[in-house]
Amino acid sequence: MTTRKSARKRAQRKYRITPDSRCERCGISRRETILTRNHKDGDTFNNEDDNIEILCFPCHAETDMDAGLWGWSQL
Ligand SMILES: [Zn+2]
Repeated sequence: MTTRKSARKRAQRKYRITPDSRCERCGISRRETILTRNHKDGDTFNNEDDNIEILCFPCHAETDMDAGLWGWSQL
């Protein structure tokens, strides 16, 4: 059995959306738009830090269109 090395990490610490959060692609701030959490691999249950990025709607739409899915899991 493999070790669950990331199980104890506070996975959402970095990616909790706060008023100071910014889109990781265009840099727009939470104060100016709605930010969402994008799951890079399309798996909304994979909440590892490196699978999540904070994006605004337009940037999120682009990534999900590329991936062929719409993942509005967390607003
Ligand atoms: Zn953006």
